[in-house]
Amino acid sequence: MSPVPKIFDYIVIGGGSGGLASARRAASYGAKVAIIEASGRLGGTCVNVGCVPKKGMFNAAAIRSTIHDAPYYKFDVKYGGFDMKSFKTDRDAYVKRLNGIYSTNLKKDGVTHFSGYGSFLSTTKVKIDGVKTLYDDETANIEDQVLEAPRILVATGGKPIVPDVEGSELGITSDGFFDLDHIPGRVAVVGSGYIGVELAGVLQELGSKVTLFTRSNTILRHHDEILGSTLMDDMKRIGIEFVTNSIASKLAKNSDGSIAFSWTENGSASPSQDFDCVLWAIGRTPNVSNIGLENVGLKLKASKHILADEYQYTGVDGIFALGDVYGLSELTPVAIAAGRKLSDRLFGGPKFVNSKLDYETIPTVIFGSLPIGTCGLTEEQAVKRFGKNNLKIYKTKFSNMYNAMLPYKPQTAMKIICTLPEEKVVGLHIIGRGSDEMLQGFGVAMKMGATKQDFDNCVAIHPTSAEELVTMR
Ligand code: FAD
Ligand code: NDP
Repeated sequence: MSPVPKIFDYIVIGGGSGGLASARRAASYGAKVAIIEASGRLGGTCVNVGCVPKKGMFNAAAIRSTIHDAPYYKFDVKYGGFDMKSFKTDRDAYVKRLNGIYSTNLKKDGVTHFSGYGSFLSTTKVKIDGVKTLYDDETANIEDQVLEAPRILVATGGKPIVPDVEGSELGITSDGFFDLDHIPGRVAVVGSGYIGVELAGVLQELGSKVTLFTRSNTILRHHDEILGSTLMDDMKRIGIEFVTNSIASKLAKNSDGSIAFSWTENGSASPSQDFDCVLWAIGRTPNVSNIGLENVGLKLKASKHILADEYQYTGVDGIFALGDVYGLSELTPVAIAAGRKLSDRLFGGPKFVNSKLDYETIPTVIFGSLPIGTCGLTEEQAVKRFGKNNLKIYKTKFSNMYNAMLPYKPQTAMKIICTLPEEKVVGLHIIGRGSDEMLQGFGVAMKMGATKQDFDNCVAIHPTSAEELVTMR
């Protein structure tokens, strides 16, 4: 006999950034909310295998880099090594604390948390298959539950892609990176998007010898050109090697445990090279299999992301999708903002009737060996949209004052893209020390429609790199 459904106002499938935010906001309006999380730990990719542990690793790498620079500032500092195993223990404990905080918050907000795998039975019913949880939770391991609600959100996120290449299982993805309890010696990183450049930089700083394989002749190909070219120079400076125009072709295990990695370069096979670790960083794919899409008629885009409109509405009555499974700007704050806006609209009353996230002009940071901040259109996109003659582009490249004492001069580069005649800022791209913390305020200004004149009307802060953004000619 099938179980009697438990009735809710709103069911959220996926307890990650978007799902948690939407569930909690809906509950704040008094809705009866259920959230289903399959992995046994709340917080999703960001908390468990993304932003949070990554930032920990980035911070560790930054400290290593500072120790390297310290003697030039006349500190008697010697590098004595990095205890990755012990660092991982502390980093994992921090993540576990966050998992617990999310659980407590759900309880506080009156959201019912089901631990298990959610899939659609119909447009109003979701089945939960119980899974073994990774930590104690009083609502865990509830098997064969059926929940029912008039509104259901799919926020199931995504997972790393592993290529269809012989021996690809010998490599790891970003998920496996966070399982490492040592810094591997020779590392091949395949892919040069966000994850490829971030993890390559971290590993190299912490002692690996990294070779980065990119299928084009550059890195961060989908961002403004100034970012990839400047970052590539810096990654070479810290010792990363690049194999451009390359495609992985085979991995095989050597008798000493290392991996023989083969690839083609400019279309021709290259001799294989041995690595201790191969890291796939070739993009992510949405979690849409086995969630009963066929039972409700949800449509997918060619990329397999769930098709939905700007209100996150899928076109199937009562069903919404957002975050990485929706696939527009796959960032935690985007998933959170979209989740909250959706719940405002569904449960917040008439004043939120048009509530939706504006996906334009979203600031984002890449935590490379030189941090990057980028917001709005790339130069290429701006030319396409407005025409070259309708733009004014400001550019600068300089060495940060921090480098005055150093024998090496990592560059800071900045580009401001403005539309004529008013010089409204439609693109801002910065790379160099401090860019990660610099961008948020400029993101606010751009969202408010700032012009270059508005930037220049703000008195510079000296001596900083950021002052260039309000003084550039
Ligand atoms: P997720 O956070 O992935 O949550 C989805 C949840 O759904 C998961 O917990 C999953 O277990 C669960 N789930 C899946 N299927 C089911 C099912 N059938 N039933 C129940 N539960 C299910 N973004 C940033 O903004 N800044 C960063 O610095 C950053 N760094 C990153 C670093 C890495 C290595 C990675 C991989 C990502 C990073 N991101 C970063 C991206 C960010 O993590 C994602 O954009 C964000 O987590 C997406 O949130 P989401 O809610 O859509 O999905
Ligand atoms: P990205 O889309 O950023 O980059 C994927 C990379 O893989 C590109 O360099 C792409 O090459 C390359 N690639 C794709 N297919 C292949 C293939 N078959 N062989 C070789 N290379 C291939 O994905 P990521 O996985 O790096 O990150 C996923 C998303 O997660 C990001 O887009 C971002 O939204 C989010 N994220 C955000 C972070 C942050 O905010 N700091 C950090 C990490 C992730 P090409 O350039 O030629 O297309």
